[in-house]
Amino acid sequence: MSAISENLARINDIILKVCENAGRKRDEVKLIAISKRKSAEAILEAYQAGQRYFGENYVQEFLDKVEHPLLANLEPEWHFTGHLQTNKIKYIADKVAMVQTIDKFATAEALSKRAEKEGLIVPILLEVNISNEDSKYGVMPEDLLFETEKIHELPNVAIHGLMTIGSPDLSDVGKEFQQMRHLLEQIAENSPNPEQVKELSMGMSQDFDIAIEEGATMVRIGTAIFGER
Ligand SMILES: *Cc1c(COP(=O)(O)O)cnc(C)c1O
Repeated sequence: MSAISENLARINDIILKVCENAGRKRDEVKLIAISKRKSAEAILEAYQAGQRYFGENYVQEFLDKVEHPLLANLEPEWHFTGHLQTNKIKYIADKVAMVQTIDKFATAEALSKRAEKEGLIVPILLEVNISNEDSKYGVMPEDLLFETEKIHELPNVAIHGLMTIGSPDLSDVGKEFQQMRHLLEQIAENSPNPEQVKELSMGMSQDFDIAIEEGATMVRIGTAIFGER
């Protein structure tokens, strides 16, 4: 077994155990392998080990991978997990299963316009700056309801939930992830399709166990699968 497939097996094991301890079903949690700055070969290894969901952060790198001969005949599900500039949306709108990092109305609006041209409705998550860090992208929690109400009006994007990056201090993330769950409940209640708003993308290599305990439906793991970047 390669290091990547061993890492995947170990992480899937941990996810299963944390789910069991938290009284959750394993299929409530999707593992997104964050493959930014990792090669197509590394992605292929993970794919061959059974991994199907991948997250990419940089538009050009993502496009290179989508078109890479090693990956061209596979059917991974790509999630966009990096900061998205509006002028690059046209390159990715028809290639992603979900954009997880919508942090303002203008980005959602540009994506909706592009999706309309392609005849698509693109699932999105709103990125929340739950730790109120200046250095982070994301909607501030207090602005979230207002932003979601505007975004709900857009015809070609569908809000499926929320995404966040926990603060580096592990003693804070439990509380932050709990707040995320409450925010998700609030925006679901105010949504025209409450049953569609159910995804909570939170938890990375260092805190995915805490995230699952607090209700994550997607964990985004890079380093623990592919090694240091
Ligand atoms: C890089 C990245 C991850 C993965 O982080 P690791 O600590 O390597 O697991 C998850 N989410 C986002 C948005 C990222 O940019």
